[in-house]
Amino acid sequence: MPQGKPAGVACLHLTSRYACGLYEHPQRPRCCGGLQPSREMCGDTREEALAYLDALELATAPHTITGARAARAVTRRAG
Ligand code: SF4
Repeated sequence: MPQGKPAGVACLHLTSRYACGLYEHPQRPRCCGGLQPSREMCGDTREEALAYLDALELATAPHTITGARAARAVTRRAG
């Protein structure tokens, strides 16, 4: 995604089976290849993993999204 992946939007390279379409291809972004999964990030279910990603996207979004919204997303994940 030349302009970067907007928050809340699935990557163009994500397949219908939730796999990376660029896995082991040189075009795969370095940030993706270097990401090490962790228990905290993955949780026990897909929903928990998506909630974690949602919280990260909110916490790192431009100024239009408040920290309170990010905090609520983290709280929902923990609950
Ligand atoms: S690993 Fe990176 S390139 Fe592959 S689907 Fe996920 S975000 Fe897209």
